[in-house]
This record gives sequence, C-alpha cells and structure tokens, in this order.
Amino acid sequence: MLVQLKEETLEENKSKDIQKKAKPYKLVEKKHDNHRTVIEVKGVLIGGPEVLALAGPCAVEGLESLRETAKVVKASGAKILRASAFKPRSSPYSFQGLGEEGLKIQRQVADELNLIIETEVMDPRDVALVEEYVDILRIGSRNMQNFDLLKEVGKCKKPVILKRGLSATIEEWLLAAEYIMAHGNHQVILCERGIRTFENATRNTLDLSAVAVAKEMTHLPVIVDPSHAAGRVDIILPLSRAAIAIGADGLLVEVHHDRENALCDGAQSLRPEDFDLLMKECSSIANSIGRKML
Ligand code: PEP
Ligand code: MN
Repeated sequence: MLVQLKEETLEENKSKDIQKKAKPYKLVEKKHDNHRTVIEVKGVLIGGPEVLALAGPCAVEGLESLRETAKVVKASGAKILRASAFKPRSSPYSFQGLGEEGLKIQRQVADELNLIIETEVMDPRDVALVEEYVDILRIGSRNMQNFDLLKEVGKCKKPVILKRGLSATIEEWLLAAEYIMAHGNHQVILCERGIRTFENATRNTLDLSAVAVAKEMTHLPVIVDPSHAAGRVDIILPLSRAAIAIGADGLLVEVHHDRENALCDGAQSLRPEDFDLLMKECSSIANSIGRKML
C-alpha cells in the first residue's frame, strides 16, 4: 500500500515536473539559434548587429536642462534620449516629474536635435498620452508585474522597454514580456537593471548572467541599465564594458550636464566627459566581439 502510494506520488510529481519544464512563454521564446527580433525605430535598429546607447537624465527637469544634456549625449554618439516625465519615487516628497509638460519638452528637444526618445509610463491611464509623444515606452522596475499596465502597452504600436523587477526572477520577467506580446505588441526590449541582493555596496546587483540567459532563451533584444544597478557613478564604465562583452544590445545610461544639481539620481549620472569616454571604451569592446557601437 505504502509502495503503491509512493509510486503514484512519483508519477504525479513527474507529470508536474514535465508541466513545469514546458516553457510558459510561447511568444518570447527563441525557436532556433538565428531567431532574433530586430526592432526598427526611425531607421535605428535595436537588437541588430550594432550596439546602441540610450542616454540622458533620469528625469525631464525643464527645456533648457534637457536640451543641454541631449546635445552632449548626441555629440558622443547616442541615438536615443532617455528621460522620465513620470517618476516612480520611493518618497512621496521627492520630485515626481513634470508629467505631460515633460513629455512636450522631450518631444521638442528630440525634434530639434533629431533624436529618438524613450520615457517611462507608470499608469495604464497614461499609456495613450505617452504613446502620442514618445518613440519608445518604458515600463519601470517597480511596475514589471503591473499586469493592467502590461496589457495596456500590449495594445500600443510603439516599442516597449521592459525593465526587470527589483526582485523578479528571469522567468517572471519573461512572463511579463509574454503579457505584452500576448496583447498584440511584439516590439519588446528587455532591460536588466540590477536586482535586490544582500549586497549593499551598490544600489542593486547587476545580474549580467541574466543578460546571457535572456539572450539564450528569447529572441528579444536585451539592454542593460548600469546606472540604476550601480547607484554610483564610479563603476558605470566597467559595468557597461562588461554588459557589451556579454552580449547586451544596448546600454541605458543616466547622463546629466550638471549632475550636482540634478533633481533625481545625480549620484549615478555620468558627466558629459565620462559618457564620452564610456562610448569610446564600449566601442572597442563592441568591435572586439564583431559588433559596432552605433
Ligand atoms: C529609470 O530608468 O528612470 C528608473 C526609475 O529605473 P528603474 O525602474 O530601473 O528603477
Ligand atoms: Mn533614475
């Protein structure tokens, strides 16, 4: 009796195991070695042979300020300007972003300088508004499992950067991407931005193995945000070099023309000259693995 019970349990577990192994992400999954999604935005390819830099301040702080930083990141070779108009801040008393006014500023600067822009969307009710102004939407780490938001961006016609949640496993991250794709938007860019660990020398721990794993398991472009992983400016360069070396398709980097006076994340924002150096050093790494820094 006991033996039989044991056998039944084993059988049950075996089938559960098989179910577990059946990959739950049908659309995200890489089907064969050359299966790669390349996303085109205004002539720029994300996930193609070239490695991209998406750079700019943490937040849109004003027209003059964004224009200043945009000019320097463009001069160093960035094609995509990052900046947030809606800010998910840990404290309700911190700068929350300029909202729609910030989106307008971003659009204006992008048009003046011929740059592509990306920004964060935090609320499903803002998705249509954000889509109107920017070229690429971003789901922040804190919202990776905001399923209503994922469904809403799933209806968008524009690409979506999906940041990995602060404490999300790779599987949860890929399932969040699956949500967006299952709702119709197949232009998803995964972004590793560091996860919570016991280590407190850095703001988060950059999980570079997640980049290799995601590139192996999915056909989606994978980029790395060393800024929110590190939380400190002095290690952005080595983390960026390592990210390119491991196969990231791009870097999402915070840069500020006047970091001492930034309204948000100044401590991790690169000075213009340091971003310029980063671009040069990352170019050599990209060349050494048969890619090019765009
Ligand atoms: C950001 O990129 O502006 C940001 C808030 O990052 P994260 O969602 O990774 O914390
Ligand atoms: Mn930031």
